[in-house]
Amino acid sequence: MSFLLRNKNAILFDMDGVLYDSMPNHSKAWSLAMEKFGMHMSSHDVYLNEGATGHDTVVRISLRDRGYEATETEINDIYGYKAALFRSMPEARIMPGAPDVFRKAAAAGLKIMIVTGSGQKNLIERVQKDFEGFITRDRMVTAFEVTRGKPYPDPYLKGLEIAGVSASDAVVVENAPLGIRAAVSAGIDTIAVNTGPLDDDILLAEHPVLLMHSMQELADSFEKLI
Ligand code: MG
Repeated sequence: MSFLLRNKNAILFDMDGVLYDSMPNHSKAWSLAMEKFGMHMSSHDVYLNEGATGHDTVVRISLRDRGYEATETEINDIYGYKAALFRSMPEARIMPGAPDVFRKAAAAGLKIMIVTGSGQKNLIERVQKDFEGFITRDRMVTAFEVTRGKPYPDPYLKGLEIAGVSASDAVVVENAPLGIRAAVSAGIDTIAVNTGPLDDDILLAEHPVLLMHSMQELADSFEKLI
């Protein structure tokens, strides 16, 4: 779709799987943490649930695997263990093409925001250094800023509010089905970037306006969208 970014004022980026190639680490960490607590989360499950908060992910898998809701204490234990495992893993690389997209978006005069379900403090800190000059903490919506995470529209609505733009003035870049659903529910045109192992059809079912296969592809086609 040509000119998708024309007349837009803001671009809202998801973080994991968009700015960082961090999903393989999340997948490993979730699967080990769930196993320790007697549940099972396959890599496919992790990618399907991506974007939801850690809290909601534990609730969903507990209901599915054990038939009952996890207690708050248990949720904190499981997510705490998962987060610690994630922190102990080698640093995820910056997604190739993501810095190019940021540079081109800024040059086009678009306000840049990050809207993530993440509560991983180390990555939330790191992104401000890796994308210095483009992003500050007050331009980020994380698990700490909203009660209801993706796939609810709340994180993206909060992002619009902070950016001071309406839904029709913004574009979202997302890699996860639940993330696309959240952005589309907020009424925002969404570019899906399929950087993981899911079939395109799973992402397309959430109605993005455009689907690409890498951030580099988005960077390379950026001029065509302006
Ligand atoms: Mg993501």
